[in-house]
Amino acid sequence: MPRLIGAHTIDSGGIAMAARRAGNAGMTALQVFSAVPKYYNEKVGVKPERVRAFHDALAEAGIAREAVIVHAGYVLNSATPEAEKWERAATALAKELERSTALEARGVCFHPGAATDGDREAALDRVAAAMVRALEHVPHGRTKLLVENSAGAGTTVGKTAAEVGGILARLPASLRARAGYGLDTCHLYASGYDLRASEAACRAVLDEFEAAAGASPDFLHLNDSQGALGSNKDRHMLLGEGEIGAEPFAWLVRDPRTRAIPLILETPQSDVPQADDDARADPCDLRMMALLRGFERDDAAPS
Ligand SMILES: [Zn+2]
Ligand SMILES: [Zn+2]
Repeated sequence: MPRLIGAHTIDSGGIAMAARRAGNAGMTALQVFSAVPKYYNEKVGVKPERVRAFHDALAEAGIAREAVIVHAGYVLNSATPEAEKWERAATALAKELERSTALEARGVCFHPGAATDGDREAALDRVAAAMVRALEHVPHGRTKLLVENSAGAGTTVGKTAAEVGGILARLPASLRARAGYGLDTCHLYASGYDLRASEAACRAVLDEFEAAAGASPDFLHLNDSQGALGSNKDRHMLLGEGEIGAEPFAWLVRDPRTRAIPLILETPQSDVPQADDDARADPCDLRMMALLRGFERDDAAPS
């Protein structure tokens, strides 16, 4: 079985076109938005014909629904101490899970947000409360609600294993199975996890999150980092062109915990605007896929 490697591909023309571009890049995983990510979209549903078109495109591309991650909107701040803002974020998160469940994605990931008043523990309580609201809003379905680790800029929470684990630990046991987390390599590095140090150090980072959350991650975002170690800067770069370098991504692809989860690139794509009906793969995505499939082959080769 090839690993589930893909990208958040360009979605001009809609998410069915994003799936076609992924297929044309040889991807076996995909990330999409289920609505425009700069809005709350708390009233936006997903029409059955759009679901059907997406599923048809996935099937044609050879991408399993279990290899699809939906990325929630960026504006949601479920950690906020402002009651009105929290209410809106929690409602929007529930709607994200509803749309992602309709798309039969493996999971929907979200940024936990910021503790703008500086009280991080209370912020973790509020993130968990928003997750409970979402999971209760969608009582059935297999799509998981996934916390993404943050780069740690400002007062954003979820920047350490303890915080990500802390959010999940606050969920009632009955809902915990439908929740999880994913790790963005740029965010890890920017928040001080030195993935570059050695293969053992890289493995130890996954160990730390596994110990804190009681489970291994449900996806990885594979991004190199423009910012230095501990810089808290969230700026993605092509693998091998940032501070992390290419080799740690080979180590990650080799880790048994990444064998059956979506490994999603969120690296820069070519600036050339793509027409709605143009399903060609992005050249940068193709380069990144070749690099990652090379790591996969090296791992499979007998040594
Ligand atoms: Zn993200
Ligand atoms: Zn990022």
